[in-house]
Amino acid sequence: MDRELLLSLIEKYESPLYVYDAEKIKSQYNRMTKAFSGVKHLKIYFAMKALSNISILRLFKSLNSGLDTVSVQEVQLGLKAGFDPQDIIFTPNGVSLEEIEQAKDLGVQINIDNLSILEQFGQKYPKTPVCIRVNPHIMAGGNSKISVGHIDSKFGISIHQLPHIHRVVENTGMLINGIHMHTGSDIYDVDAFIRATEILFNAAATFKDLEYIDFGSGFKVPYKEDDIQTDIEELGLKLSKRFNEFCKDFGKDLTLIFEPGKFLVSEAGKFLVNVNVVKQTTSTVFASVDSGLNHLIRPMFYDSYHHIENISNPNAKKRFYTVVGYICETDTFGTNRRISEIKEGDILCFNNAGAYCYSMASNYNSRYRPAEVLIYQGKDHLIRERETIEDLLNKQIEVAIDL
Ligand SMILES: *Cc1c(COP(=O)(O)O)cnc(C)c1O
Repeated sequence: MDRELLLSLIEKYESPLYVYDAEKIKSQYNRMTKAFSGVKHLKIYFAMKALSNISILRLFKSLNSGLDTVSVQEVQLGLKAGFDPQDIIFTPNGVSLEEIEQAKDLGVQINIDNLSILEQFGQKYPKTPVCIRVNPHIMAGGNSKISVGHIDSKFGISIHQLPHIHRVVENTGMLINGIHMHTGSDIYDVDAFIRATEILFNAAATFKDLEYIDFGSGFKVPYKEDDIQTDIEELGLKLSKRFNEFCKDFGKDLTLIFEPGKFLVSEAGKFLVNVNVVKQTTSTVFASVDSGLNHLIRPMFYDSYHHIENISNPNAKKRFYTVVGYICETDTFGTNRRISEIKEGDILCFNNAGAYCYSMASNYNSRYRPAEVLIYQGKDHLIRERETIEDLLNKQIEVAIDL
């Protein structure tokens, strides 16, 4: 998506604005299927919590992707977008038995990540196939808040409790058709990933009714030029080979599953904002924009990096800026960034705005959430309108209590 196109979208839809590139999503999806073309049965489930607009979901449906969901509401949205229940995996963490029952009634694949629910579910529904999420206790990923496979993590059933899992399965007579891990985010070390898969293979070998192995996701995408990223092609070669060997030993062609969010959509998204104020203090030049952590919380939430460019004036002399939001709380997008000279009214573009950006947006400070636009073949499609004052009042009940 070039600069002129993005600037024309600001003219048309105003700022702030999320813009997504359909072709980039498609090319990432194809890159992944190609990397694993060595396995007989591969299925990719888009982790929709990364970007849940219904038009994006439909895009994934048209690519033949499945959906990875973490709440029953995500399941409902997926069904509304036209997915078959059998193409949806429900992978929640710490939810109630009731919510899992609702998902079961909607016909989707259930994934259970704790022994307590496994036992309760197995006793009530021994005939419903269930996938088990195990925690291989591999420390992977770049950030303690998004790394979920380590020993202290709340996710999954500890691999050390495998005997306990088997006791529950035998006692209830339930059918385990899948085994799953998701070790966290920003994993770039292919060999660390392979080590975790070996642990998963060992566990998988003990479930005779298995139909698939789900290797989760957490692939690292580049945030800067020449940034490290997961070498998906190398992973594809190494893991496919190992997976095929495992299937041979197991005596059955299993399905290999991934459920990426970030890998599929992060780089496809741009976030455009307008510079309201350039403020020179004694130590820093601040560029304050018409957005904040209400629209893009990742830098404040877990120190994520979003490359920022001045697309109004890309060739001006570079200067150092700290780019901040308008929220009444510290909301820094980037500190000491080298950006082409910024003037008030310039449009800044944030990269990697496809995953966990709009989907984490809120109305904090009673601000409207931005509009979202999808670009396909050079044409723009508005896929969500900017909110209005009615949206802020929606569902509120005005009670007149005079004190
Ligand atoms: C969030 C999540 C994913 C996607 O992770 P990414 O880092 O965005 O690829 C996959 N599986 C599960 C169970 C998740 O919770």
